[in-house]
Amino acid sequence: ILHLDDVSKQFSGNWVVQHVSLKLHQGELLGLLGPSGCGKTTLLRLIAGFEQPQNGTIDIAGQRVAGSNRWQPPERRDVGMVFQDYALFPHLNVAENIGFGLGRDRQKTKERISEAIALVGLTGFEKRYPHELSGGQQQRVALARAIAPQPSLILLDEPLSNLDLQVRLRLRQEIRTILKATGMSAVFVTHDQEEALSLCDRVAVMRQGQVEQFDTPEAIYQTPASQFVAEFVTQAN
Ligand code: ATP
Repeated sequence: ILHLDDVSKQFSGNWVVQHVSLKLHQGELLGLLGPSGCGKTTLLRLIAGFEQPQNGTIDIAGQRVAGSNRWQPPERRDVGMVFQDYALFPHLNVAENIGFGLGRDRQKTKERISEAIALVGLTGFEKRYPHELSGGQQQRVALARAIAPQPSLILLDEPLSNLDLQVRLRLRQEIRTILKATGMSAVFVTHDQEEALSLCDRVAVMRQGQVEQFDTPEAIYQTPASQFVAEFVTQAN
């Protein structure tokens, strides 16, 4: 569903992402894990189409979205996005936030909104405004908005980092259950190794723009590819 081949990106002479190759299958959750500044967010932005790579190719759901002579802007990619700061429209209620940009077919839009609201467990909250919701509820709305158009791939950038620990732990498992129920694939950026390893099917551990290890959580724990990976995944938060 997602294929990156030898993707590199530099900003004014600094290579922030270097020779990254990854493959993700339908329905799998991928975690991009690594310390601050290692290039996780830049890699996610390359997949989303907010940045253009200098080298390499990116395919999403069988479509080449970046490569030599090929460029699809974010709105032409089959992706939905969830950011750390929710980015809901304050003047729109929950249903309107989720329905924003869903198209003109009113009946279909209504169905997709109520399906997405049910999936994230917010039935009954349709008419509330963002300021009437907790942080965790707002993040559920953001997830519902990303899911509602039924994209092939959901991209999440530290979606839990602004929430308190209890909400965070609950939502973490719920996000996994929700995404698994949709059958969509997802890429999840985090600097929290426990989050990546408990939530994701595959994890790419990054260091200085490169993927140091790309494997299942079990393999990363049991056979870390380097000292760096071993230390990073076992450190306490
Ligand atoms: P964090 O967890 O702190 O967000 P990260 O792993 O997501 O870190 P990135 O945000 O991808 O890391 O940044 C990687 C490096 O690229 C950093 O050194 C950053 O300063 C640099 N960088 C990112 N965006 C730009 C830009 N638009 N112009 C110049 N440098 C940039």
